[in-house]
Amino acid sequence: MEVALMVIIMKPGTGEEELQEVRERVHWWGLSTHVIHGVERVVIGVVGDTREFVQAGIETWPGVDRVVRIVQPYKLASKEVLQETRVRVGEALVGGEEVVVMAGPCAVESYEQMLAAATAVGRAGARVLRGGAYKPRTSPYSFQGLAREGLELLRRVKEETGLPVVTEVMEESSVELVAEHADLLQVGARNMQNYPLLRAVGRAGRPVLLKRGMAATVEEWLLAAEYILSSGNPAVILCERGIRTFEPQTRNTLDLSAIPLVKRLSHLPVVADPSHATGDWRLVGPLSRAAVAAGADGLLIEVHPRPDRALCDGSQSLTPRSFASLMKELAAVAAAVGRHVTVPTACPSTSPGS
Ligand code: PEP
Ligand code: MN
Repeated sequence: MEVALMVIIMKPGTGEEELQEVRERVHWWGLSTHVIHGVERVVIGVVGDTREFVQAGIETWPGVDRVVRIVQPYKLASKEVLQETRVRVGEALVGGEEVVVMAGPCAVESYEQMLAAATAVGRAGARVLRGGAYKPRTSPYSFQGLAREGLELLRRVKEETGLPVVTEVMEESSVELVAEHADLLQVGARNMQNYPLLRAVGRAGRPVLLKRGMAATVEEWLLAAEYILSSGNPAVILCERGIRTFEPQTRNTLDLSAIPLVKRLSHLPVVADPSHATGDWRLVGPLSRAAVAAGADGLLIEVHPRPDRALCDGSQSLTPRSFASLMKELAAVAAAVGRHVTVPTACPSTSPGS
């Protein structure tokens, strides 16, 4: 059986009625459809045995521009389907001209810690607040996160600062709960190939930040995104967070080449996480600048009001002060590659807790 080998690309500006008409005709052939709303047009992925369907004269159907047979193993994630996808998180659009910076502590520890972090990163220009309530720790004895209470704290801090929130969801059974609190659902590196979880976030009605598994190839990563897309969720942001190599002096190795590569293979936006890629706050600045220069659509950076007291990943966390100065540097790099970073004009160099 040939599965999802075809994509119907609709003409720009096609209406809902024509779209439904085309879907019904596809369903009549015993095939199923997945609709993705791109920036300029809508495309319909056709799933099932398409051997006879290709003779249905599809290109003459109302609203249809053309039909494409996708040769890549990933289909809906492929650049052959769409030129670009922009994912809205709060007021920011990831995948547009702006390089969207998401920042905050590794883990939600307390209300005071989150509020201090959110205030500082927001003032420096971060558009999204990060903070894990559920932490996938290598050791079962390490701090595992505040779980439900952490989600509540994220909600309170979001209400006070207006910053949208990205937070990790680790299990299928908590997708609904996390989706009620998060603006962007993070699927961590360790769960990149947790297929039931990918399907569940695909149905969650929230955008998803899909981290690359620490030993995953680019193709496996895009196939993981395909699980989410084919479950009905078009809003996927890929996150390169370093892969495991033979080098022990850094936590992982940031695969910078994956950024332009993914942008060539896929229409999905891609962001970089230099914190988990390096494990060392002193390397976060240089690699953030490099990722923006390489075309990243955003960054995910760990910032803690007191890195020396962090319950998780303090050694890779920036202070509010170093984050604020990094943002200014990023603005210059972004401008050099025709992008921009939001840096408030009155960016404080002495933010609280710096
Ligand atoms: C995190 O973002 O805190 C995290 C656990 O990341 P990763 O899944 O990339 O290890
Ligand atoms: Mn972390």
